[in-house]
Amino acid sequence: MTTRREFLKRTGATGITLALSNSVDGASEAARLYAPPSGVGAAQTVLGALDVSELGFTLTHEHIANAPDVLKRWPKAWGGRAGLIAKAVDRLKVIKAAGISTVVDLTPYDVGRDIRFLEEVSRKSGMNMIASTGQRFFPPQSRHVSMPARTIAGLAEYFMKEIDRGIDGTGIKAGVIKIGIIAGRPTSLEEVGLRAAARASKATGVPIRIHTDSAHRAGESDAVILEDEGVNPARVSFDHSDDSGDMDYFLGLARRGYFLSMDHVHRGLRAGAKPSFERRAECIKRIVDAGFGDKLFLSSDSEFGGSLLPEETRDWRENIDPPEGMLFSVRRLLPRLGELGVSSKHIHVMTVENPKAFFRRSAAA
Ligand SMILES: [Zn+2]
Repeated sequence: MTTRREFLKRTGATGITLALSNSVDGASEAARLYAPPSGVGAAQTVLGALDVSELGFTLTHEHIANAPDVLKRWPKAWGGRAGLIAKAVDRLKVIKAAGISTVVDLTPYDVGRDIRFLEEVSRKSGMNMIASTGQRFFPPQSRHVSMPARTIAGLAEYFMKEIDRGIDGTGIKAGVIKIGIIAGRPTSLEEVGLRAAARASKATGVPIRIHTDSAHRAGESDAVILEDEGVNPARVSFDHSDDSGDMDYFLGLARRGYFLSMDHVHRGLRAGAKPSFERRAECIKRIVDAGFGDKLFLSSDSEFGGSLLPEETRDWRENIDPPEGMLFSVRRLLPRLGELGVSSKHIHVMTVENPKAFFRRSAAA
């Protein structure tokens, strides 16, 4: 009889995911049956637990799961859901061919997350995808979470359910917790979300990504709450950090052990934008030179659904996304960083090694 351990040794999490990837239910079933207990040591993708060595070049802050939400506004734009899926899969194959093998989707329940869509386009395109639980900002109401549940304990429980049992009754599990804090300091409701994320992260070993207003040093006030909750800074990323441009802000947080995600670099390309594209690229180089390349992520915070829209239906969001969409890093940012003298070794650290360390589920704290 083959023991579970022998089976794991022979196949590895990747083999299992690949072997069963033609069956949606099979893939989630495999993750439940054969992943290490509670997925510790692996990354949780929408197709099941995946050995982190398989993640490869990873974009750590993108939005794909809300693409069908855009379809509601222009139902004829793609020829319905099937047309949208076909178009999304084609686009993702192009992105994959450019060397990107994993995309982290930071679209929680309150901004139109469609987990089945994410799973289907991942399976058909071969792109690994990590889905998120958490919440963006506090919406007035949601069909998923009632107002009375919005206590710290109630929300933490909801996040843990999406991590350990699955999203929207599907068995597809979240591999990251995303929290949105609008301004420089969290409102009292946002603080509830942040503390809930901290507790769910400690209980499950899944990391946290935070939307921050870095121009107002939001990471510093968020860190006070996270540290009060006893979260390990190495399990937290302050996203949109490049909106700051302040080296003291960057190095202060990096020294404390936090990750910084540079995912708005394309926004610096707009005329008069501050910080400029050049300044953002220069800050990345200076952080690497200061010895903190192992604390950086590169991504493009794209709205994938908007990028698929026909020309006549594109909305404002399209204008703030880079024209290259998720290819911005490989086509524009990495070449510029190379010109500035960032080594290919450091680029590998930022795009492959850091995601590998961060999205590997750790033991509960
Ligand atoms: Zn985002």
